[in-house]
Amino acid sequence: MTRDDSTPPPLAPLPIDAALPELLTHLKASRRVVLVAPPGAGKTTRVPPAILDSGICGDKQIVVLQPRRLAARATAERMSSERGSRLGEEIGYQVRFESRVSKQTRIEVLTEGILQRRLASDPFLERVGCIVFDEFHERSLASDLLLGMVEQVRASVRDDLMVVVMSATLDASGVSKYLADAPVVVSEGRKFPVEIRYDSDLNRQPLAEQVLSTVSRAIEQRDGDLLVFLPGVGEIRGAQRLLENASFSRDFAIQPLYGDLSLEEQQQALRKQSRRKIVLATNVAETSVTVDGVTIVIDSGLARVSRYHESTGLDRLDLEPISRASADQRAGRAGRTAPGICYRLWPEAMHRARAAFNTPEVQRVDLAPAVLEILAWIEPDLATFPWYEPPASGTLDRAVSLLEQIHAADERSITELGRQMLRLPIHPRLARMMLYAREHGDLLPVATAAALLSERSPWNHAPGGTRGNFAPRRAREHSESDVLDRVQAIAAFEARGETHFPFGELNPRSAKTLLRTRDQLLRLVDAPRNTSSMPEDELLQRAILAGFPDRVAKRRETKLAPEYARDDAVRGLMVGGRGVKLDRSSQVLSEELFVCVELDMGQGEAIVRQASGVKRAWLDPQLLETKRVAVFDDELLRVQGRKRTSWNGLLLDESQAALPEEDEVAEILAKEAIARWDRVFPPESEGVLDYVLRTRLLARLMPKLELPPMDVPYLQSILPAVARGCRSIDDLRRAPWLMVIKNGLSWDQQQAIEREAPERIKVPSGNAIRLEYQADGPPILAVRIQEIFGLLETPKIAGGRQPILLHLLAPNMRVAQVTDDLHSFWASSYALVRKDLRARYPKHSWPEDPYTAVAQSRPARKN
Ligand code: ADP
Ligand code: MG
Repeated sequence: MTRDDSTPPPLAPLPIDAALPELLTHLKASRRVVLVAPPGAGKTTRVPPAILDSGICGDKQIVVLQPRRLAARATAERMSSERGSRLGEEIGYQVRFESRVSKQTRIEVLTEGILQRRLASDPFLERVGCIVFDEFHERSLASDLLLGMVEQVRASVRDDLMVVVMSATLDASGVSKYLADAPVVVSEGRKFPVEIRYDSDLNRQPLAEQVLSTVSRAIEQRDGDLLVFLPGVGEIRGAQRLLENASFSRDFAIQPLYGDLSLEEQQQALRKQSRRKIVLATNVAETSVTVDGVTIVIDSGLARVSRYHESTGLDRLDLEPISRASADQRAGRAGRTAPGICYRLWPEAMHRARAAFNTPEVQRVDLAPAVLEILAWIEPDLATFPWYEPPASGTLDRAVSLLEQIHAADERSITELGRQMLRLPIHPRLARMMLYAREHGDLLPVATAAALLSERSPWNHAPGGTRGNFAPRRAREHSESDVLDRVQAIAAFEARGETHFPFGELNPRSAKTLLRTRDQLLRLVDAPRNTSSMPEDELLQRAILAGFPDRVAKRRETKLAPEYARDDAVRGLMVGGRGVKLDRSSQVLSEELFVCVELDMGQGEAIVRQASGVKRAWLDPQLLETKRVAVFDDELLRVQGRKRTSWNGLLLDESQAALPEEDEVAEILAKEAIARWDRVFPPESEGVLDYVLRTRLLARLMPKLELPPMDVPYLQSILPAVARGCRSIDDLRRAPWLMVIKNGLSWDQQQAIEREAPERIKVPSGNAIRLEYQADGPPILAVRIQEIFGLLETPKIAGGRQPILLHLLAPNMRVAQVTDDLHSFWASSYALVRKDLRARYPKHSWPEDPYTAVAQSRPARKN
């Protein structure tokens, strides 16, 4: 539409119109406002122009922040057509690699990355009067981050900067509180009832077929357009093919709607048409763009969600069931202009099991790019950044650690290299690759690799094809780098239009998008400083290493047999200790070291979908470490010396070496001994257990002595001292335990033990007989009856607190009687014992009166 001088046609009324005066009043008075209204109410199209026309921004700009490229374009287009101006004049937009703005532009719709770049060069946003955060309920990491940054800018020098936070499903009180109790304006919008229908059972048909059969049913039920929610472009194309072949297809316009469409194609999907429309959309149509005239929604219940996988340190797009809140938004799209109907392709019973809300990105994605932004910010302090919702500190630390490894940061401060990385609209890892290439040679292949790794894959994978685990590995030469193979494939496409490749069929459309991205990246980096100093392939592989130093893995088995499926050849161990396994899609089968470029959670071990070989000579020598260590051999039960060479913590080589310091060996041995205590204690060394039992008894009965408890924890605590000079568990069993135990006691304590828990007891025969101390119960004195004639009472130890238990022995040394009451033994049982034994051992002395008889240490001989 071109602008003419007459007044534009009056705008169609929208529900939001009624709330605009209140919004403007609050904005003028408090500078910050939260606006909540359902999708389709008119927030996006009406609020920015209303602010502009009210004049409260003076001659400053209004910036509208959109999480999605598609919505940014559509919004700018819609606003300018409503105002009868040309896109790019009064109203413009800017998204990655695409800009329609001019000097006159007053309302600029930006995606988050663009505002980020702008803040980096112009942190105080001199020309901006108001920032509108649209779709804040999506809670993208970038919008959380930007809201925090804008708050810091307001707090420092720009308290005049106005902020409007708009959302469809917002927890308004939370964000209002965050914005110093900003007023909340609510607009109800128009709503018509939407009938919800669930599938009766879990449908196991392919998604496209479910869509086809539901569409055929739905078009009979009701007039109006259809909106089908699908998780991604692949599913949209699949459903489109089926629908276009259906008998009813002539009466319908079938329109895909997703982020990568051109502005033209996108408008086509949104425009009112003469035939009924079936729009096949990703979740862009959930709240951020409005398709008019929809009365039927078909919801697959799925979305692709970027999620951080802790075990792999990577974000990945996962196909996930949407939350109940999202499902309600989708259903609501059917009831905007008339009563509607929503078909949910899942049974009602399973609806409850879905999450109530979506998890904000800050809780689930890689924070490295965001952390780098903060480190480059006017207040580069991670600890004080005013997060709307702070991330877990563990994820922040991981992000910092990655940035330090790729030299973007050093001790939590951004480096010069880090600042250069920020100028590239790609993940810091990929930016590092580009900058490495600029330093050492030709940029082009590395830029292709960066584009490949930042965009979605341009290869169409046959179902169960190279992505599946069941396809046979291609019988082909081993490759040095899967990434290199793909870069060369793209080059072959560019040069000769080739599209058949072993890893799939190249989609020409996606390939062209990719080449565009590559060229745009190339434009952002200055020409290489020194070309061709390194062979091209090597440069790419080394650049990958520079971007993924935390992902280097060592193959478990490198002597590769011809049968390349051999398990050990495809398995490896990655920096950080995680086990990885090469997927069949990877051909990197012979390099000892490789970078796990595309990595995926597996059951236990991570699956490497793309790898890139690494030569040892390329490893940063600063991270190489050679150490002599002691390790415990589980079979020999012995500590052994090893020389270990590792890189970034990843073990590269190990060889025999002399044992390290005695202390270190003792410490390892002590630790292992605790794990195998039963093999260690009681030791073989003389008298240890006895001494331990004696001490333990006194520690219990005579607390005044303040003896150590001599229990298992105490004995384990002295292990390092006992183990000094030992190398094996066997050595430990023969170690000088007694000496170490006594060293832990004072002289007085040692004396007290000898006195109160003596090793031996003197009996009337003159012999000193060993006491048997026990773990439980009293100590035992086993003594022949003849030796204790004249001993009237049971002996006691521990200052008289502990009577001993007498095992009275017959001449054959068998126990004839057990007693702890000698007095009553003599008085009663002795007579019986005597009667019995005298007959069998007549040579021995069996006096009638044991009280006065002389004790004998040997049987009396008849002369
Ligand atoms: P909200 O931001 O509150 O979800 P929008 O501003 O996106 O609402 O949409 C308000 C209304 O403007 C919609 O109900 C629709 O009628 C109309 N509209 C918005 N964009 C377009 C478009 N590209 N083509 C036709 N109508 C549109
Ligand atoms: Mg909107």
